[in-house]
Amino acid sequence: MSAWDPSSSSSSETNSENPSWIHWYCNLRGHNFFLAVPDDFIEDDFNLTGLSGVVKYYTAALEMILDLEPSEPTSVPMPDENMIRADAELLYSLIHQRYINTKQGLFHMAHRYQAGEFGRCPRLGCGNCAVLPVGRFDQTGMDTMKLYCPRCIDIYHPPDPVYVQIDGAFFGSSFPHMLFKTFPELLPSINRYFPKPPTHAQVPFDAADYWVYQPKIFGFRVHASAPDSPKMQWRRWRSGTRFLEHPSGPSYA
Ligand SMILES: [Zn+2]
Repeated sequence: MSAWDPSSSSSSETNSENPSWIHWYCNLRGHNFFLAVPDDFIEDDFNLTGLSGVVKYYTAALEMILDLEPSEPTSVPMPDENMIRADAELLYSLIHQRYINTKQGLFHMAHRYQAGEFGRCPRLGCGNCAVLPVGRFDQTGMDTMKLYCPRCIDIYHPPDPVYVQIDGAFFGSSFPHMLFKTFPELLPSINRYFPKPPTHAQVPFDAADYWVYQPKIFGFRVHASAPDSPKMQWRRWRSGTRFLEHPSGPSYA
């Protein structure tokens, strides 16, 4: 767990005398996918409904997040400073998950998605499609953050080890799908550049479009009945999709 240390911040507020806890936290190494949740969202009790039952030192954690003076302790024994910090991170993860699913949060995340700030799909056939952070669960401590590709509709481990400790609950399981429900125009077109199925003569080898991999042995497709045949190929198949093949090679599509 990271310690609250304003001097380690790399944000634009590094040189300010009192960087907020939220900006310090969002600028820690590996936290650059997070949004800085506005104070007014956190100060609205309605937005935090139910979280007091999940976080043990809820009041102290909330005060830390909002940079408020600690109130008189009500629990005995007094919570350790490290326990409050841990609860502040836990509480912020759950608040963040709720905020990015609001209209304002989705708007900010959509801009970052369009800029490719969350990375690109590692699958060759997805043509460098931008990805979004996602969790497999909405509860903390279940699994780490993954990256969701809207083209192949699959999730991947982040390639940079700096993200391997990020809890998936910061984003939750609904976020990418809420974003595309809200902004359907951001869904990538499967055949954006070729409304009709392209021919090999039209398509450069590195065309940034959608393809499905076809296993072959000496140029012949591996039969569907073979043990290593692509039995889940249908899952990635779209209308007009072509197999990923070298344009100068033989075509069996
Ligand atoms: Zn993909």
